[in-house]
Amino acid sequence: QNSLLSATGTTIFTVMSALALEHGAINLGQGFPDYDGPEDVIEAAAAALRDGRNQYPPLTGVPELRQAVAAHNRRFYGIEADPASEVVVTSGATEAITACLMAVLNPGDECVLIEPLYDTYLPVVKLLGAVPKLVRLSPPDWALPRAELAAAFGPRTKAILLNTPMNPTGKVFTTAELAFLAELIRRHDCYAICDEVYEHLTFDGWRHIPLMTLPGMRERCMRIGSAGKTFSLTGWKVGYITCDRSLAGNVAKAHQNLTFTTAPNLQRGVAVGLMKEDAYFAGLSAQLQAKRDRLARGLAAIGFGVLPTQGSYFITTDVRPLGFNGDDVAFCRTITEEAKVTAIPVTAFYASAEAPSHYARFAFCKGEAVLDEALERLRAWA
Ligand code: PMP
Ligand code: GLN
Repeated sequence: QNSLLSATGTTIFTVMSALALEHGAINLGQGFPDYDGPEDVIEAAAAALRDGRNQYPPLTGVPELRQAVAAHNRRFYGIEADPASEVVVTSGATEAITACLMAVLNPGDECVLIEPLYDTYLPVVKLLGAVPKLVRLSPPDWALPRAELAAAFGPRTKAILLNTPMNPTGKVFTTAELAFLAELIRRHDCYAICDEVYEHLTFDGWRHIPLMTLPGMRERCMRIGSAGKTFSLTGWKVGYITCDRSLAGNVAKAHQNLTFTTAPNLQRGVAVGLMKEDAYFAGLSAQLQAKRDRLARGLAAIGFGVLPTQGSYFITTDVRPLGFNGDDVAFCRTITEEAKVTAIPVTAFYASAEAPSHYARFAFCKGEAVLDEALERLRAWA
């Protein structure tokens, strides 16, 4: 059997969701909304299903969705991309990340990863025989350690994987940080895989800036979006990649060997979603900002050290002020069992055991009554 897979644990999201179910806990762990996505998007998918759109769609995605991805890129970021040759639809951003890594990495190539990191990145880089070079952001401000980042790049660097807005930190990379990254990518003549699934979930006037929009980055970046996050439909697993045509051929071949295609009816629903009016996207972030504020205020009042969140579904909290005797894994297990509220231990987002072990991540993409009930339970437990 493959030793890397044998050594990979079951994802923390599955572990904690199962524990939540077992203990009847409110699940603020795995990041999924407890509300449905837009009615018209769901209706469009349902109509396509009934209209006989049920056989293999084109390999790179149905034309309506590729056109909608291109139009969305133009509308929000001024990115021009040819829907026929520079957009690839995948079965979720998870597949997109793997397809992009497969598209550029050869065995022995180095790939820069930024910790804390989403849990699929490292296993895939290793499975491809590439060498991960980890650079760590430090809490509480998660600023980019520029000297360390520069030192992680070298003659064997082939790619960097960048996640902004970032899971689990809620960090949105600044233009200055992106410019610094872009300079390194240019200097070392490499590629960037840009996991931008939370692109529309930014708060307090923070705006998501795709690395692809910086000078010299158009041909080097593979920009990834997810209908799961943009339309609160995480179970649909529809992702989309925008990249230069010189990269899209390999990206499409990776997709061809992973899943080949993605459910055509869902693709048609997502196409309707990406063409929705600006007010939809503004409303999505405004609603989530109110949820973030509600949960952040409540957690702070209980005594959690609440770190700022500029984007994503997540709040990171320092649990030390609560005086709990144990690490983040013990803390998340204990509150699931005793308070009946589930969170994710942030050490799950680190590659090595020497990681800060006093942070718990809470998802706020839930109804207000659910957030209030979770806070009430934590207040009674603390
Ligand atoms: N990247 C990040 C940073 C995520 O948090 C997630 C989780 N949803 C994904 C990728 C995967 O997205 P999808 O569900 O579209 O595969
Ligand atoms: N992205 C979601 C999170 O961070 C989980 C996705 C998954 O369960 N794989 O919570």
